Amino acid sequence: MTKVFMSRPLPEAVQAAAREFCDLTVRELTTPMTPDEMVMSLADYDGVVPTLGDFYTADILAEAGDTRCKVLANFGVGYNHIDVAAAKAAGIAVSNTPGAVTDATADIALCLMLMTARRAGEGERLLRAGQWEGWHPTQLLGMHLGGKTVGIVGMGRIGQAIARRCHFGFGMNVAYASRRPKTLDFPAEAKDSLLDLAAAVDVMVLAVPGGAETHHLINADVLTAMQPHAILINIARGNVVEEAALINALQSGQIAGAGLDVYEFEPAVPEALRAMENVTLLPHLGTAALEVRTDMGMMSVANLRAFFAGKPLPNAI
Ligand code: NAP
Repeated sequence: MTKVFMSRPLPEAVQAAAREFCDLTVRELTTPMTPDEMVMSLADYDGVVPTLGDFYTADILAEAGDTRCKVLANFGVGYNHIDVAAAKAAGIAVSNTPGAVTDATADIALCLMLMTARRAGEGERLLRAGQWEGWHPTQLLGMHLGGKTVGIVGMGRIGQAIARRCHFGFGMNVAYASRRPKTLDFPAEAKDSLLDLAAAVDVMVLAVPGGAETHHLINADVLTAMQPHAILINIARGNVVEEAALINALQSGQIAGAGLDVYEFEPAVPEALRAMENVTLLPHLGTAALEVRTDMGMMSVANLRAFFAGKPLPNAI
C-alpha cells in the first residue's frame, strides 16, 4: 500500500480521508522536522505532507539521493520552505493549498489593522493591569480607518480579499503596487513603484509570497518613504520585512505602528518589538481555524490522491 508521511498532526477528518487510500504515518510532534527526519521521509515514504518550517532544501534533497518519495503535498499556500526547482529536478512533484486560506488570512490582516490603528492591544493591556481609570474624551486615541488609504503589496488572492474588506467594509481607498497588471472588481489605484505606494498610504499591508525574490522587500528605504502616522501590517512571511530596519523605524517614529503575524526568525520575536505598545504581535494565526485547517488538509489529501491515481495534481506548483 502507498505509504504517506504527515509531518504534523492535522485535523482528525483529514487523517481519516488520507487513511482511505494510503498507509498513513503521522509525526506526533508539532515542531518543524529535523534534517534527518526529512531525509528519512523522502527515503521511506511514497508521499509526504510537509508544512511551514520543514525546510526541504536542495541540500536535503541531494542527501536523500534517489528517493522513494515522489510527491510533496504541502499543507499551506506558502511554499518558500521547499526548493521546488530542486524537488522537480529530483523527480518529485510539489503541490500547495491555495484558496482555502484566503479569507481567514485576510480576516487576520483586518484584525491586525484594527488592533494597531485603534490601539486595542495597548488598551487591553492597560485594563488587565488594573490601570484603567474610566472613559474620557482624549484617552487612547487611535487612527480611524474609514476614508484612509490602504496600500496592498502583493495583489493576489489574499491581497484582493484584504482590499475588498477595506473598500466594502471600511470605506477605505485602495492602492497597490504589483508586477503584473490586475483586473479588479473594486476601485483601486495602481502605483508605479513600491516607494510611491509607501509614500501614499496610511496602512501598508504585505501579502506577497516569501522566498528569495521578496526577501527584505520592505527595507529601510521603503520604511523611510512611509508617512510618520502610517502603520505596516505583515501577514505574508517574516523575512519579507528586514526586521532590524522595522525596529529602527518604529523606535525613531518614522512610522506609527506595526501589526505582525509573521517574523523574520520565527518563532523568535525580538524583545524590542515586544516592548513597544504600538506594535500588535500575533503568533502566526493567519489560517488558525478548524474549518480552514481542515479544508487545507483536504486539499493536500486531494493532491496526494490524484497523484497516486496517476492524475494531474489539482494544485501543482
Ligand atoms: P498569490 O495569490 O500567489 O498572491 C501573491 C501576490 O504576490 C501575487 O499577486 C504576485 O503579484 C505578488 N508577488 C509575488 N512575488 C512578488 C514579488 N517578487 N514582488 C512583488 N509582488 C510579488 O498568493 P496568496 O494565496 O495571496 O498568498 C500570499 C502569501 O501569503 C503566501 O505565499 C504565504 O506566504 C502568505 N500566507 C500567510 C498566511 C499566514 O498565516 N500569515 C496564511 C496564508 C498565506 P503579481 O500577480 O503581480 O505577479
